[in-house]
Amino acid sequence: MIELTGCLSPHVPTPQKGHTRLVWLTPDRGTARLRVITWTCYCRATLYELCQAGGQGFIRRTLQLEGSPAIHETYRWPIRQASDIWRALLSGEAR
Ligand SMILES: [Zn+2]
Repeated sequence: MIELTGCLSPHVPTPQKGHTRLVWLTPDRGTARLRVITWTCYCRATLYELCQAGGQGFIRRTLQLEGSPAIHETYRWPIRQASDIWRALLSGEAR
């Protein structure tokens, strides 16, 4: 799905029927040395980021509310597995 809107980052599509439902957790406080590897487009209300910390990967979801963003994270996985789940998110196979 290509949208000619001038956006540089991908948009998360509508989930496919029977998509994998990711578990969204309240983030641990004080996550040390977090690296954001890639992210979805900021033009949408919900921003997803593929993050790496301590050799593990996870996805962070930020709902950009006025004043106080609501942030959730997935479980942590080996970075390769986290990348697979990131691709599934971008293809509508997971949400
Ligand atoms: Zn966009």
